[in-house]
Amino acid sequence: KSKSQQKGHFLFFNDTINTQVQRDLLLESELHLAIANNELDVLYQPQINAATGLIYGVEALVRWYNPKLGHVSPVEFIQVAEDVGIINDIGNFVIKKSLQDILQFNNCSNTQLHLSINISPKQLMEPDFVSNVINLTHEMAVDNRLVTLEITENVLINDLAKVQPVLQSIRDSGMKLSLDDFGTGYSSLSYLSNLPIDEIKIDRSFIDKLLTNDQSESLVKTIIAIGQFCDLTVIAEGVETKEQYDHLRHYRCDLVQGYYFDRPLSLTALMASYQTSRISHEA
Ligand code: C2E
Ligand code: MG
Ligand code: MG
Ligand code: MG
Repeated sequence: KSKSQQKGHFLFFNDTINTQVQRDLLLESELHLAIANNELDVLYQPQINAATGLIYGVEALVRWYNPKLGHVSPVEFIQVAEDVGIINDIGNFVIKKSLQDILQFNNCSNTQLHLSINISPKQLMEPDFVSNVINLTHEMAVDNRLVTLEITENVLINDLAKVQPVLQSIRDSGMKLSLDDFGTGYSSLSYLSNLPIDEIKIDRSFIDKLLTNDQSESLVKTIIAIGQFCDLTVIAEGVETKEQYDHLRHYRCDLVQGYYFDRPLSLTALMASYQTSRISHEA
Protein backbone atom coordinates (compact mmCIF):
# COMPACT_ATOMS: atom_id res chain seq x y z
CA LYS A 1 0.00 0.00 0.00
CA SER A 2 1.24 3.49 -0.79
CA LYS A 3 1.53 6.09 1.89
CA SER A 4 -1.32 8.16 0.51
CA GLN A 5 -3.63 5.16 0.54
CA GLN A 6 -2.73 4.46 4.13
CA LYS A 7 -3.31 8.04 5.01
CA GLY A 8 -6.59 8.00 3.19
CA HIS A 9 -7.62 4.92 5.07
CA PHE A 10 -6.64 6.52 8.33
CA LEU A 11 -8.66 9.63 7.59
CA PHE A 12 -11.64 7.55 6.61
CA PHE A 13 -11.38 5.61 9.85
CA ASN A 14 -11.20 8.85 11.81
CA ASP A 15 -14.24 10.21 10.01
CA THR A 16 -16.12 7.08 10.89
CA ILE A 17 -15.32 7.57 14.54
CA ASN A 18 -16.37 11.20 14.38
CA THR A 19 -19.58 10.26 12.70
CA GLN A 20 -20.24 7.63 15.35
CA VAL A 21 -19.51 10.10 18.14
CA GLN A 22 -21.75 12.66 16.49
CA ARG A 23 -24.51 10.12 16.11
CA ASP A 24 -24.22 9.11 19.77
CA LEU A 25 -24.42 12.74 20.84
CA LEU A 26 -27.37 13.41 18.57
CA LEU A 27 -29.07 10.24 19.76
CA GLU A 28 -28.61 11.26 23.37
CA SER A 29 -29.97 14.77 22.90
CA GLU A 30 -32.87 13.62 20.74
CA LEU A 31 -33.76 10.87 23.22
CA HIS A 32 -34.34 13.49 25.93
CA LEU A 33 -37.07 14.98 23.73
CA ALA A 34 -38.50 11.77 22.35
CA ILE A 35 -41.41 11.49 24.76
CA ALA A 36 -42.35 15.17 24.58
CA ASN A 37 -42.17 15.04 20.78
CA ASN A 38 -44.37 11.99 20.65
CA GLU A 39 -41.74 9.86 18.94
CA LEU A 40 -42.11 6.74 21.06
CA ASP A 41 -44.59 4.02 20.32
CA VAL A 42 -45.30 0.56 21.67
CA LEU A 43 -45.92 -2.53 19.56
CA TYR A 44 -47.31 -5.86 20.73
CA GLN A 45 -46.08 -9.30 19.75
CA PRO A 46 -48.53 -12.13 20.42
CA GLN A 47 -47.61 -15.01 22.69
CA ILE A 48 -49.38 -18.20 21.72
CA ASN A 49 -50.45 -21.09 23.93
CA ALA A 50 -48.59 -23.96 22.25
CA ALA A 51 -51.13 -26.59 23.28
CA THR A 52 -54.22 -24.78 21.99
CA GLY A 53 -52.83 -22.44 19.35
CA LEU A 54 -54.79 -19.59 20.92
CA ILE A 55 -53.35 -16.23 21.89
CA TYR A 56 -52.33 -16.02 25.54
CA GLY A 57 -50.96 -12.50 25.69
CA VAL A 58 -48.57 -10.00 24.17
CA GLU A 59 -45.11 -8.62 24.82
CA ALA A 60 -44.86 -4.83 24.71
CA LEU A 61 -41.89 -3.68 22.60
CA VAL A 62 -40.97 -0.01 22.49
CA ARG A 63 -40.26 1.74 19.18
CA TRP A 64 -38.55 5.06 18.50
CA TYR A 65 -38.77 6.95 15.25
CA ASN A 66 -36.85 10.21 15.11
CA PRO A 67 -36.91 12.47 12.03
CA LYS A 68 -33.12 12.98 12.09
CA LEU A 69 -32.07 9.47 13.11
CA GLY A 70 -34.78 7.34 11.55
CA HIS A 71 -35.79 4.15 13.36
CA VAL A 72 -33.51 3.47 16.30
CA SER A 73 -33.43 -0.03 17.79
CA PRO A 74 -34.40 -0.38 21.46
CA VAL A 75 -31.24 -2.45 21.90
CA GLU A 76 -29.34 0.78 21.22
CA PHE A 77 -31.44 3.46 22.89
CA ILE A 78 -32.46 1.57 26.04
CA GLN A 79 -28.77 1.32 26.89
CA VAL A 80 -28.30 5.05 26.27
CA ALA A 81 -31.40 5.81 28.33
CA GLU A 82 -29.90 3.82 31.21
CA ASP A 83 -26.54 5.56 30.87
CA VAL A 84 -27.95 9.09 30.82
CA GLY A 85 -30.51 8.44 33.54
CA ILE A 86 -33.78 8.71 31.63
CA ILE A 87 -34.70 5.03 31.59
CA ASN A 88 -37.47 5.67 34.10
CA ASP A 89 -39.22 8.22 31.90
CA ILE A 90 -39.11 5.85 28.96
CA GLY A 91 -40.00 2.85 31.11
CA ASN A 92 -42.96 4.66 32.63
CA PHE A 93 -44.15 5.70 29.20
CA VAL A 94 -44.09 2.08 28.04
CA ILE A 95 -45.85 0.85 31.18
CA LYS A 96 -48.63 3.46 30.98
CA LYS A 97 -49.17 3.10 27.25
CA SER A 98 -49.20 -0.69 27.29
CA LEU A 99 -51.57 -0.87 30.27
CA GLN A 100 -53.93 1.53 28.49
CA ASP A 101 -53.76 -0.48 25.30
CA ILE A 102 -54.26 -3.85 26.94
CA LEU A 103 -57.23 -2.41 28.82
CA GLN A 104 -58.70 -1.18 25.56
CA PHE A 105 -58.20 -4.59 23.97
CA ASN A 106 -59.61 -6.53 26.90
CA ASN A 107 -62.57 -4.20 27.41
CA CYS A 108 -64.01 -5.02 24.03
CA SER A 109 -62.96 -8.64 23.76
CA ASN A 110 -63.88 -12.01 25.17
CA THR A 111 -60.21 -12.84 25.47
CA GLN A 112 -58.34 -11.36 28.40
CA LEU A 113 -54.81 -10.85 27.11
CA HIS A 114 -51.84 -11.03 29.44
CA LEU A 115 -49.24 -8.29 29.06
CA SER A 116 -45.47 -8.75 29.34
CA ILE A 117 -43.35 -5.64 29.84
CA ASN A 118 -39.55 -5.52 29.59
CA ILE A 119 -37.94 -3.89 32.61
CA SER A 120 -34.31 -2.85 32.46
CA PRO A 121 -32.08 -3.47 35.51
CA LYS A 122 -31.77 0.20 36.52
CA GLN A 123 -35.48 0.70 36.20
CA LEU A 124 -36.21 -2.33 38.38
CA MET A 125 -33.88 -1.07 41.12
CA GLU A 126 -35.32 2.45 41.21
CA PRO A 127 -36.59 2.94 44.81
CA ASP A 128 -40.26 3.51 43.97
CA PHE A 129 -40.46 1.27 40.93
CA VAL A 130 -42.79 -1.42 42.26
CA SER A 131 -45.13 0.93 44.11
CA ASN A 132 -45.39 3.13 41.01
CA VAL A 133 -46.40 0.20 38.85
CA ILE A 134 -48.90 -1.00 41.45
CA ASN A 135 -50.38 2.49 41.70
CA LEU A 136 -50.78 2.60 37.94
CA THR A 137 -52.46 -0.78 37.60
CA HIS A 138 -54.71 0.13 40.52
CA GLU A 139 -55.68 3.54 39.06
CA MET A 140 -56.38 1.99 35.69
CA ALA A 141 -58.15 -1.02 37.18
CA VAL A 142 -55.91 -3.51 35.39
CA ASP A 143 -55.81 -6.91 37.08
CA ASN A 144 -52.23 -7.35 38.34
CA ARG A 145 -52.43 -11.05 37.53
CA LEU A 146 -52.50 -10.16 33.84
CA VAL A 147 -49.15 -8.39 34.06
CA THR A 148 -45.73 -10.05 33.70
CA LEU A 149 -42.50 -8.15 34.13
CA GLU A 150 -39.61 -9.46 32.03
CA ILE A 151 -36.19 -9.09 33.59
CA THR A 152 -32.85 -10.48 32.48
CA GLU A 153 -30.59 -12.82 34.38
CA ASN A 154 -27.96 -10.07 34.60
CA VAL A 155 -30.12 -8.34 37.18
CA LEU A 156 -29.63 -11.30 39.48
CA ILE A 157 -25.86 -11.44 39.55
CA ASN A 158 -25.67 -7.80 40.58
CA ASP A 159 -26.96 -7.50 44.08
CA LEU A 160 -29.12 -10.43 44.99
CA ALA A 161 -29.75 -9.13 48.50
CA LYS A 162 -31.22 -5.94 47.03
CA VAL A 163 -33.00 -7.59 44.14
CA GLN A 164 -34.73 -10.29 46.18
CA PRO A 165 -37.14 -8.01 48.11
CA VAL A 166 -38.02 -6.12 44.92
CA LEU A 167 -38.90 -9.36 43.17
CA GLN A 168 -40.85 -10.49 46.22
CA SER A 169 -42.95 -7.32 46.27
CA ILE A 170 -43.73 -7.82 42.59
CA ARG A 171 -44.83 -11.38 43.34
CA ASP A 172 -46.88 -10.22 46.36
CA SER A 173 -48.75 -7.75 44.16
CA GLY A 174 -50.00 -10.59 41.96
CA MET A 175 -47.85 -9.64 38.99
CA LYS A 176 -45.62 -12.31 37.45
CA LEU A 177 -41.91 -12.36 36.76
CA SER A 178 -40.25 -13.76 33.67
CA LEU A 179 -36.54 -14.39 33.12
CA ASP A 180 -35.91 -13.08 29.59
CA ASP A 181 -33.16 -14.34 27.27
CA PHE A 182 -32.82 -17.39 29.51
CA GLY A 183 -29.68 -19.41 28.92
CA THR A 184 -27.46 -16.55 27.80
CA GLY A 185 -26.57 -15.10 31.21
CA TYR A 186 -25.11 -16.36 34.41
CA SER A 187 -28.15 -17.54 36.28
CA SER A 188 -27.71 -20.59 38.40
CA LEU A 189 -30.36 -23.22 38.86
CA SER A 190 -30.71 -22.28 42.52
CA TYR A 191 -32.21 -18.92 41.46
CA LEU A 192 -35.09 -20.73 39.88
CA SER A 193 -36.12 -22.36 43.13
CA ASN A 194 -35.11 -19.54 45.49
CA LEU A 195 -36.41 -16.51 43.66
CA PRO A 196 -40.09 -15.75 42.99
CA ILE A 197 -39.85 -16.39 39.25
CA ASP A 198 -42.95 -17.55 37.36
CA GLU A 199 -41.67 -17.94 33.82
CA ILE A 200 -38.48 -18.55 31.86
CA LYS A 201 -38.11 -17.31 28.33
CA ILE A 202 -35.74 -19.43 26.25
CA ASP A 203 -33.46 -17.15 24.29
CA ARG A 204 -33.95 -16.82 20.55
CA SER A 205 -30.41 -18.05 19.83
CA PHE A 206 -31.33 -21.56 21.02
CA ILE A 207 -34.56 -21.62 19.01
CA ASP A 208 -32.59 -20.48 15.96
CA LYS A 209 -30.39 -23.58 16.11
CA LEU A 210 -33.07 -25.94 17.41
CA LEU A 211 -33.22 -28.04 14.24
CA THR A 212 -29.62 -27.76 13.14
CA ASN A 213 -27.61 -28.18 16.30
CA ASP A 214 -27.96 -31.17 18.62
CA GLN A 215 -26.59 -29.27 21.56
CA SER A 216 -29.19 -26.53 21.20
CA GLU A 217 -31.90 -29.14 20.95
CA SER A 218 -30.74 -30.84 24.16
CA LEU A 219 -30.54 -27.50 25.86
CA VAL A 220 -34.05 -26.51 24.87
CA LYS A 221 -35.41 -29.90 25.99
CA THR A 222 -33.55 -29.58 29.28
CA ILE A 223 -34.73 -26.03 29.94
CA ILE A 224 -38.33 -27.10 29.32
CA ALA A 225 -37.88 -30.08 31.67
CA ILE A 226 -36.37 -27.87 34.36
CA GLY A 227 -39.24 -25.45 33.94
CA GLN A 228 -41.76 -28.23 34.42
CA PHE A 229 -39.88 -29.54 37.43
CA CYS A 230 -39.76 -26.10 39.05
CA ASP A 231 -43.38 -25.40 38.14
CA LEU A 232 -42.49 -22.50 35.85
CA THR A 233 -44.13 -21.44 32.63
CA VAL A 234 -41.71 -21.91 29.74
CA ILE A 235 -41.93 -19.63 26.73
CA ALA A 236 -39.79 -19.78 23.58
CA GLU A 237 -38.96 -16.54 21.75
CA GLY A 238 -37.94 -16.14 18.13
CA VAL A 239 -40.00 -19.00 16.70
CA GLU A 240 -39.78 -18.47 12.95
CA THR A 241 -40.81 -21.78 11.37
CA LYS A 242 -43.50 -24.40 11.63
CA GLU A 243 -40.81 -27.02 12.29
CA GLN A 244 -39.54 -25.12 15.31
CA TYR A 245 -43.10 -24.75 16.57
CA ASP A 246 -43.78 -28.48 16.09
CA HIS A 247 -40.67 -29.41 18.03
CA LEU A 248 -41.50 -27.03 20.88
CA ARG A 249 -45.03 -28.39 21.08
CA HIS A 250 -43.66 -31.90 21.13
CA TYR A 251 -41.43 -31.01 24.09
CA ARG A 252 -44.44 -29.44 25.83
CA CYS A 253 -43.20 -25.87 25.80
CA ASP A 254 -46.07 -23.80 27.24
CA LEU A 255 -45.94 -20.61 25.18
CA VAL A 256 -44.38 -19.58 21.89
CA GLN A 257 -43.67 -16.21 20.33
CA GLY A 258 -42.03 -15.23 17.07
CA TYR A 259 -42.31 -14.16 13.45
CA TYR A 260 -43.91 -17.50 12.53
CA PHE A 261 -47.01 -16.28 14.36
CA ASP A 262 -46.72 -12.51 14.20
CA ARG A 263 -44.30 -9.63 14.03
CA PRO A 264 -44.78 -7.01 16.75
CA LEU A 265 -48.10 -5.32 15.89
CA SER A 266 -49.71 -1.94 16.49
CA LEU A 267 -52.70 -2.00 18.82
CA THR A 268 -54.96 -1.50 15.80
CA ALA A 269 -53.44 -4.45 13.95
CA LEU A 270 -53.58 -6.59 17.09
CA MET A 271 -57.27 -5.83 17.52
CA ALA A 272 -57.99 -6.45 13.85
CA SER A 273 -56.28 -9.86 13.93
CA TYR A 274 -57.28 -11.14 17.32
CA GLN A 275 -60.57 -9.49 18.18
CA THR A 276 -62.48 -9.98 14.95
CA SER A 277 -61.12 -13.47 14.33
CA ARG A 278 -62.09 -14.38 17.85
CA ILE A 279 -65.61 -13.04 17.50
CA SER A 280 -66.16 -14.76 14.14
CA HIS A 281 -64.63 -17.88 15.67
CA GLU A 282 -67.26 -17.98 18.36
CA ALA A 283 -70.19 -16.86 16.24
P1 C2E B 1 -36.38 -9.05 23.98
O1 C2E B 1 -37.18 -8.63 25.15
O2 C2E B 1 -35.67 -10.35 24.08
O3 C2E B 1 -37.40 -9.02 22.76
C1 C2E B 1 -37.36 -9.90 21.68
C2 C2E B 1 -36.83 -9.23 20.44
O4 C2E B 1 -36.83 -10.20 19.38
C3 C2E B 1 -37.67 -8.08 19.92
O5 C2E B 1 -36.78 -7.16 19.28
C4 C2E B 1 -38.56 -8.76 18.88
O6 C2E B 1 -39.07 -7.85 17.91
C5 C2E B 1 -37.60 -9.73 18.28
N1 C2E B 1 -38.27 -10.89 17.70
C6 C2E B 1 -39.47 -11.42 18.00
N2 C2E B 1 -39.74 -12.52 17.28
C7 C2E B 1 -38.66 -12.72 16.49
C8 C2E B 1 -38.34 -13.73 15.49
O7 C2E B 1 -39.07 -14.67 15.22
N3 C2E B 1 -37.12 -13.62 14.89
C9 C2E B 1 -36.26 -12.59 15.19
N4 C2E B 1 -35.10 -12.56 14.52
N5 C2E B 1 -36.54 -11.63 16.11
C10 C2E B 1 -37.73 -11.71 16.75
P2 C2E B 1 -36.88 -5.61 19.57
O8 C2E B 1 -38.30 -5.17 19.62
O9 C2E B 1 -35.95 -4.93 18.62
O10 C2E B 1 -36.32 -5.48 21.04
C11 C2E B 1 -35.02 -5.82 21.32
C12 C2E B 1 -34.73 -5.75 22.80
O11 C2E B 1 -34.88 -4.42 23.28
C13 C2E B 1 -35.69 -6.58 23.63
O12 C2E B 1 -35.29 -7.93 23.62
C14 C2E B 1 -35.56 -5.92 24.98
O13 C2E B 1 -34.40 -6.39 25.64
C15 C2E B 1 -35.34 -4.47 24.61
N6 C2E B 1 -36.64 -3.76 24.72
C16 C2E B 1 -37.64 -3.65 23.83
N7 C2E B 1 -38.65 -2.90 24.33
C17 C2E B 1 -38.27 -2.55 25.58
C18 C2E B 1 -38.90 -1.78 26.63
O14 C2E B 1 -40.03 -1.27 26.52
N8 C2E B 1 -38.17 -1.62 27.79
C19 C2E B 1 -36.92 -2.19 27.95
N9 C2E B 1 -36.29 -1.99 29.11
N10 C2E B 1 -36.33 -2.91 26.99
C20 C2E B 1 -36.99 -3.10 25.82
MG1 MG C 1 -38.51 -9.48 26.38
MG1 MG D 1 -36.26 -12.00 25.09
MG1 MG E 1 -33.78 -12.21 23.38
